[in-house]
Amino acid sequence: MRLRHVKGAKDLIATHSTLIFDNDREKEFNIKNYFDNDFPIHIEIGMGKGKFIHTLAKTNKNINYVGIEKFDSVIVRALEKQLEDPQDNLLLIRTDAVDLPVLFDTNNVERIYLTFSDPWPKDRHAKRRLTHKNFLDIYKKILSKNGELHFKTDNDLLFDFSVESITNYPMNITYITYDLHNSDFEGNIMTEFEERFSKLGNTIKKLTATFKE
Ligand code: SAH
Repeated sequence: MRLRHVKGAKDLIATHSTLIFDNDREKEFNIKNYFDNDFPIHIEIGMGKGKFIHTLAKTNKNINYVGIEKFDSVIVRALEKQLEDPQDNLLLIRTDAVDLPVLFDTNNVERIYLTFSDPWPKDRHAKRRLTHKNFLDIYKKILSKNGELHFKTDNDLLFDFSVESITNYPMNITYITYDLHNSDFEGNIMTEFEERFSKLGNTIKKLTATFKE
């Protein structure tokens, strides 16, 4: 995604370290202790401006949500939403998905959302796609038994690549639609990208999957 310089982003982030932190500074951070309850943990990787996860947190108070995003200039928008309308079951973390095992105890996460992940269309960048086998290895470590991966995108190439990567891993695909907005799926919450791309006429693809034993 194209990055804009957001004025004051660093200052805003630095002064709100309980809502958002940089895991380079807080390697010992323990997510379970942060929430101080036993509710399940759901995370979104690449949450961007955070509308999706903020709405989920507001709607489901018995679930703890963690939004992961690697860029200051984007996560600051999610932070602004939190400050305007705070949800105590939502934590924002600025980090790269490759660091997830540092942050989460093994098998501690019940659900991972990947929403409109960067498609990285060039073959030589395939390893950067968040559904590449190397990332599935990471998700397997942190997801609980029966934990679910939920993935949606408008991008056909990324979706097809993901179906193949997930099937070959091997994982079970438990739900799939090639047109989410005209499917039987109930209660869909749109992300910022989903609103933008569906307005352009793109259909939205979604799947859920679990790891085989
Ligand atoms: N989920 C949002 C944003 C989609 S754009 C929406 O649907 O509106 C993809 C986002 O993923 C970008 O903000 C990008 O910075 C973030 N991202 C990409 N790779 C990442 C990684 N390895 N770790 C964390 N965030 C990542």
